[in-house]
Amino acid sequence: MDTVTQTAAPKVILTGDRPTGCLHIGHYVGSLRRRVELQNSGEYEKIFIMIADAQALTDNFKNPEKVRENIIEVALDYLSAGLDPSKTTLLIQSQIPELTELTFFYSNLVTVARLQRNPTVKSEIQMRNFETDIPVGFFTYPISQAADITAFKATTVPVGVDQLPMIEQTREIVNRFHYIYSPEKEVLVLPEALIPESEACQRLPGTDGKAKMSKSLGNCIYLSDTPDAVKTKVMSMYTDPLHIQVSDPGHLEGNTVFTYLDAFCKPEHFERYLPDYANLEELKDHYTRGGLGDVKVKKFLLNIVQETLEPIRAKRKELEKDIPAVYEILKKGSQEAREVAAQTMSEVKHAMRIDYFEDTELIRSQQERFAAKEG
Ligand code: ATP
Ligand code: MG
Repeated sequence: MDTVTQTAAPKVILTGDRPTGCLHIGHYVGSLRRRVELQNSGEYEKIFIMIADAQALTDNFKNPEKVRENIIEVALDYLSAGLDPSKTTLLIQSQIPELTELTFFYSNLVTVARLQRNPTVKSEIQMRNFETDIPVGFFTYPISQAADITAFKATTVPVGVDQLPMIEQTREIVNRFHYIYSPEKEVLVLPEALIPESEACQRLPGTDGKAKMSKSLGNCIYLSDTPDAVKTKVMSMYTDPLHIQVSDPGHLEGNTVFTYLDAFCKPEHFERYLPDYANLEELKDHYTRGGLGDVKVKKFLLNIVQETLEPIRAKRKELEKDIPAVYEILKKGSQEAREVAAQTMSEVKHAMRIDYFEDTELIRSQQERFAAKEG
């Protein structure tokens, strides 16, 4: 077998969130917790975390104030959860015009039919009741997401499972770009999604039992919720409607409290809060056998969620004292990110043959052509 020596692309992360609300524990287990681990692993050359305001405007265009207000909320959530601006570049999407430029050129590489088949877009259109009034910007946001990922030459995109079709679509765009404009040199990088290992974390359900905790559905526990708010939400969570008496056998399937335990519970939590059980398996066994009440399980979950959120809340309180410093972090990060995106953009323009003024050879050869005509 021939061994092809290939210099592997440096490992780069790009991911982000829409500033449509504060971040919730679905974001935390689906992506944020992992980002902090990856940041601290030191294995990545660059990490870009983007507040996707332009994308948020595609379905909130009538409500720019909402997007504007939530920039700082998301930034505070990032920093409180452990993203460190000395290791990670935090940026605001709209401040990088190259992303819009790339989106425009990529839109030639995607058909309307292909966008219509994108399952995430399909379900999000349904959820938002757009019916026939789908804004073009919303419909085409997978293209803009491809621009975001590729502008930073991201190799790795840590996301929840709802984003897999986006990464797939990005990979198609990259391949098509190379096939058409740059068959000999790979200008762009094919990204890979990094999804959480446990199913519970891939798509955390809402407190109402709905398939996904989502800012737009109002079924969230926010990272910035007060301990009281968390308590109210956990104690009124959806469990098993058939589990009426404590003695009734309970069901785990679709039982949100147990899904959250799958996402958050570690063995040491039992020692601290529920020493009668050795681990989650034992607790689940008892529940399905009957004889274990929902309130007891919810109290256990509540302790775990409070313990997880407490350091995040404390850090947020500190950060809230100096808001201008947080905007400064975003400004600096956006400037840094812009330089990277501009470099990619110039490579893209070269490949697409639209780098007229940088190409002195072009100008010279055109001069020669006209001179030949003259002669
Ligand atoms: P919106 O309702 O405005 O779309 P959202 O709650 O879906 O908001 P996004 O900003 O769209 O949040 O998602 C940001 C990231 O968080 C994505 O990687 C997404 O996969 C992940 N994510 C969002 N909700 C969940 C969830 N419930 N479980 C796991 N991951 C999630
Ligand atoms: Mg979403």
